[in-house]
Amino acid sequence: MLSPVLLAASRSDRTRRLISRVPVTRLVVDRFVAGDTLPEALEAVDALIADGIEVTLDHLGEDITDAAHARRNRDAYLALLEALGRKGLDGRAEVSVKLSAFGQSLPGGHDLALAGARRVCEAAAEIGTTVTLDMEDHTTVDSTLAILAELRRDFPQTGAVLQAYLLRTEDDARALAVEGSRVRLVKGAYKEPASVAYQEKRDVDLAYARCLRTLMAGGGYPMIGSHDPRLIELAVRLAGTYGRSPGTYEFQMLYGIRDAEQRRLVTEGQRVRAYVPYGADWYGYFMRRLAERPANLAFFLRSFTTR
Ligand code: FAD
Repeated sequence: MLSPVLLAASRSDRTRRLISRVPVTRLVVDRFVAGDTLPEALEAVDALIADGIEVTLDHLGEDITDAAHARRNRDAYLALLEALGRKGLDGRAEVSVKLSAFGQSLPGGHDLALAGARRVCEAAAEIGTTVTLDMEDHTTVDSTLAILAELRRDFPQTGAVLQAYLLRTEDDARALAVEGSRVRLVKGAYKEPASVAYQEKRDVDLAYARCLRTLMAGGGYPMIGSHDPRLIELAVRLAGTYGRSPGTYEFQMLYGIRDAEQRRLVTEGQRVRAYVPYGADWYGYFMRRLAERPANLAFFLRSFTTR
């Protein structure tokens, strides 16, 4: 019951101001966010790479209200890619972008977001790495997949994200399970109506399993974006069924979540990538993480009483 309330709050400016002002919030945010600044994010990257875990970095910023902000977000990615280029990490460090941070929801937003994402893809290609387009709420899916198709003409390695909770996703998975297509499969993190999305966890999990099979059987590069032990086990089994060796698919998990499992998979020879968010605009991301797991909310609330 709490999850829809938290997801609604993740888009409320009033709650954003309230939560952001509470000093102890920071302690909990730090578990999920690698810091406010690029140097802090790069420190987290170094630690993960040293443990054999690859990364995809997300400069936090979404739901912006003007084009100047979209340009600032794009420039933050360009600075990030420049810094990653200096480290010489190639594909071990890629970036994830939310098109809403590049102005997708503004008037003329489709073209604005495409132009911003194209510039970031160019910069990524220059340092030998890739970009994945995060998926946001269901109203953005058509636009995001159309931008993906445009970008893939020049940058075929551009990654897509599919959300298993959407009723449409099995069709999208079939369409994207083609040679060279990088696809991250996730359950989905937004509050969606029953007209477009499964509402029960069991139905979402079953849909995830079906989409996972489609991706693993296809010619693309599946990126298993989940912490769910049963789905991770299923992915390993499907890799065996379809004759895939580690490196023809990868596991992805969020920074700060199931760290031990990330390391265990690496020691088993699997390719693992952590999604590392950083930046001052952590509110929406943080609230979605609280909504996913009641224990996170309890941890957050406890931090008020145990100081
Ligand atoms: P769940 O059933 O939610 O969780 C399984 C287990 O994982 C839990 O029992 C718990 O042990 C652990 N766990 C899960 N979430 C948390 C948490 N917040 N805190 C602590 N433990 C947790 N969603 C989108 O809508 N668009 C995206 O572009 C997107 N990108 C993502 C990228 C990556 C790399 C990952 C891993 C997730 C992404 N998500 C995205 C979020 C995703 O949709 C889910 O909301 C999230 O991954 C939780 O689902 P789960 O598959 O881990 O399964």
